[in-house]
Amino acid sequence: MSIHSFRFPTDIRFGPDSIKSVPDLLTGQGVHKPLIVTDERLRDLSFFREFEQSLKDKGLSTYVYSDFSGNPIKRHVIRGAEAFKECGADAVVSIGGGCALDVGKAVALMATHPGDLFDYEDGLEGAKEIKDCIPFTLSIPTTAGTGSEVGGSSVISDDQTHKKVIIWSSYLVPSLVIADPCLLVGLPASVTAATGIDALTHNIEAYLAKNFHPMCEGIAIEGIRLVFQHLEKSVRQPENIEARSGMLMASMMGAVAFQKGMGVTHSCAHALSTCFDVHHGLANALMLTACLRFNQDHVGDKLQHLAKVLGAPANKGSEAFISMVEALIKNVGINHKLSDLGASISEKLVTTAFQDPCHQNNPKSCRLADFSNLFETVFAS
Ligand SMILES: [Zn+2]
Repeated sequence: MSIHSFRFPTDIRFGPDSIKSVPDLLTGQGVHKPLIVTDERLRDLSFFREFEQSLKDKGLSTYVYSDFSGNPIKRHVIRGAEAFKECGADAVVSIGGGCALDVGKAVALMATHPGDLFDYEDGLEGAKEIKDCIPFTLSIPTTAGTGSEVGGSSVISDDQTHKKVIIWSSYLVPSLVIADPCLLVGLPASVTAATGIDALTHNIEAYLAKNFHPMCEGIAIEGIRLVFQHLEKSVRQPENIEARSGMLMASMMGAVAFQKGMGVTHSCAHALSTCFDVHHGLANALMLTACLRFNQDHVGDKLQHLAKVLGAPANKGSEAFISMVEALIKNVGINHKLSDLGASISEKLVTTAFQDPCHQNNPKSCRLADFSNLFETVFAS
């Protein structure tokens, strides 16, 4: 397989070993001192050490900021921005899962913008303006799920309340993306499965969202097809580069598609992560089919169409697609129960889901009681 270059929605180098082009690409941009932002669990892996060495061999001065792990909070971003200034960095290179990439974007923002990070919250009344002075940012995903590498949003939690705050600007879309499927081969099956279902959920919710955006719908349909073609294989054959490539692409397509909007599944998943620290992809996997059934009478023939795209006979109803999703989730090894993950239904869980903005674009409008019913259905299953 070869490396492909394209610019949609940003500059992307896609293909095995594309990470090896990073030193030349950085020097080509005039970068001398990149701040490398990565999750602390990645820092000691051999591929990371080799990557850092390749930058040094090219004459670049590197500084690694990895003082965080898991869901990022504001403090992680503030420390990263301080590191950027202290070492006189001129670019941010983020490498890791969605969390590391989100921290990298927020660090790049706070390296050049005054005030508090949450002053820039998307949709906040009186929010400070994000300007076109973000340093050069390069993102290298090591999971296929969030698609954060091609998006302009960064989700950072409050240190105390753990409420997720979304910062968004088109200026936060990374300047360059290295999508190298070889970086995914070491992922454990459970992470491959959960992040892969997150990518599936992005594509499905974007396709069903009520906003008008036929371009995103076309991308979402193909993203869904790619997940069905490649996710199970990625879980069962972790070194299958073709399958890993397919999932990396599906993940980026999901993030492009959800510019159209997301839906009720993500509102439930965000609440489960906020209240019980459930992994985001896993939370989506556990809520997805119940949310599809909640929506199925409000999406026209879209679910039928998806079933047809996946090869079901034309006369099959929307339930055929939901059954396919159910089977995929089971086949990739996700058979947890929410109660096993320490979660329980509470007023806080239901109101957190209701207050989450994602369901504003859900095809069926959601009341507070709908969230109670959805959680009850899933907890009882
Ligand atoms: Zn998601």
